[in-house]
Amino acid sequence: MKVTQIQVEFEKRVNDGDYGSDRVQLRLSADVDEGEDADELVSALLHQVRQRVTLDLRNSVTLAVRRRMNPKPRLCDECKQILSDDDDYEHEACGQVRRERERVAAEERQARYAAEAEERRARYAAEQAAHAQSDDDDDVPDGHSDDDDEPM
Ligand SMILES: [Zn+2]
Repeated sequence: MKVTQIQVEFEKRVNDGDYGSDRVQLRLSADVDEGEDADELVSALLHQVRQRVTLDLRNSVTLAVRRRMNPKPRLCDECKQILSDDDDYEHEACGQVRRERERVAAEERQARYAAEAEERRARYAAEQAAHAQSDDDDDVPDGHSDDDDEPM
C-alpha cells in the first residue's frame, strides 16, 4: 500500500483553575511526494503540531494556564540542581550527604550536652564542698545562699 496523504491532529486542554480551560486543537495534513518517506513525514508533522499547540498555550492570556504550561524546574533541596522525575525533593546521593551531615551534627550536639552536664556536676560538687567547709560560720552569706537568709 502506498501512502499518499498524511493527516495529524493534536489537541491539548489546560485547566484555568476557574471552572474553565484553554483548549487548542490543530490539524495538519500533507501530501506524500514521490520518493518521500511517509513515516518520517508523520514524525515531522506530529512534532510540528505538538510544538505549535504547546507554544500557543505557553503564551495564553490566562495566568493560571501560563503557569501550568511553564512550570518552574524542580530543584534539589541540597545542591539546587535540577531533579529528575525519579527524585522527589533531593538526589539520592545528596540525601546520603545530608543524612551523614545530620548524623555528625547530632553527635556533636550530644557531646556538647554531655560536656555541659559534666560541667554542672563538677560545679555542684565544688559548691557542696565549699559549703561543707563553711558550715562553722553559717551566718556569713556566701553569695549562693541569699535565699536562705531571713527577710529584712
Ligand atoms: Zn542534589
